[in-house]
Order: sequence, then structure tokens, then C-alpha cells
Amino acid sequence: MIVKMLTVGALGTNCYVVWCEKTKEAVVIDPGFSTEEEGKETVLHFIETKDLHVKYIINTHGHADHTSGNAVVKKATNAPILIHELDAPLLGLSGQDWASMFGYQIASPPADKTLREGDTIHFGKCTLAVMHTPGHIRGGISLAGTNCVFVGDTLFQGSIGRTDFPGGSYKTLIRSIKEKLVTLPDTFIVYTGHGPTTTIAQEKRNNPFILTPELYAPDEEE
Ligand SMILES: [Zn+2]
Ligand SMILES: [Zn+2]
Repeated sequence: MIVKMLTVGALGTNCYVVWCEKTKEAVVIDPGFSTEEEGKETVLHFIETKDLHVKYIINTHGHADHTSGNAVVKKATNAPILIHELDAPLLGLSGQDWASMFGYQIASPPADKTLREGDTIHFGKCTLAVMHTPGHIRGGISLAGTNCVFVGDTLFQGSIGRTDFPGGSYKTLIRSIKEKLVTLPDTFIVYTGHGPTTTIAQEKRNNPFILTPELYAPDEEE
């Protein structure tokens, strides 16, 4: 499984093109472009250069900075859009007016298939396992491969996702991280939704929200 990270959009979203070296079948995770033109110049250009066949478009969650490029990738590749069932209703910019404030110009088509805990996504000889990791948002997922995990806005290098948006919960987010992510092998590479890539070992050692989560809990959830 080969991974290419392309940082796109007004909020610096990490979009991942992931593919099977043998078959060139690929998935595009979180194509959060600000404009159609940006999508063409970044991800679509990359896919064409590598001669990849995109089998699925996958959103780690429904925020527009992760879904705004779904339409562009779907138009070019005809690949279906996959998202957790709880976030599927969020696709499109309706109800996410903040996204147009940041200049996102593209609304997403509806989901073609919804995901839930325990699903597996196959492309070429590669498999990604779907883990439901709510807390940043209700329908947040992480996608685990054999030596890496794509976590969206659940976990960042030295930090965690915001929990003050609708559907966010600090307690739920910490539980998702402790039960689903920290239990992965130390060597797993963590591909985050924003900012640098990290590892499970590094976050277990250094991430203050994993070491002492009670220090940062918001009062209103007590
Ligand atoms: Zn988000
Ligand atoms: Zn985000």
C-alpha cells in the first residue's frame, strides 16, 4: 500500500491518495479542495501521472474541509462516495455556512454507500478496516491498514480534534482515541487530517491529551 499526502484547501486539509502497487487501484481520502481548479491541479493531476484507477472516495467525516472535493473527484473518476452513516446527512454545504466563509465553493453529492464499524474497504490487494471514532463529530471514522491508520480530525500530532462543533464531545473523543487508536501497534503510522504525520508510539509518549486527558476536559461536560 502506497500513500501520498497532498495538503489542500483553505484549512490545510491532508488529502491522501492510497493505492495498491500491483493493481494501481486507489482510494482518495478527504479531498477537501477549495475549488474545482485546485482539485484538478493537485489530486487529479497526481492520479493521472501515476495512472491510478480510483475505486472509492472516502470521507473520514462530514465537515466540508474534508468533503468539498468529492464532486470533482467523482466527476473525473466515477468512483462512489463512502462516509459513516451518521455523517452522511452532512454532505453538501447546506448547514455548513462557515465553509463558504472560508471560500469552499463545492458542494458534495450525496453518499453512494454508508460505512459503519467493522466494514472493510478493498482496493487491489489492499484493505482498510473501518473503525467508528466519534467525538470530533458523531460520524468520525478512522481507517486502519496493515501498518498505518488514517484518523481524520480525531487525533493530531501532540493534539486532538476540536470538540466544540455540533456533535462534538470531549469524553467521547478521548474514549475513541484510547479504545481504538492507542490500542493499535506502536509502530503504526498515523496519517492525520491536518498537520504532520506521527506514530502511535510518539503520541502515547508525548500527547498531553492521551497522558492526562482530565486536565483539559471542558467544564460543561463534567
Ligand atoms: Zn472536522
Ligand atoms: Zn478538518
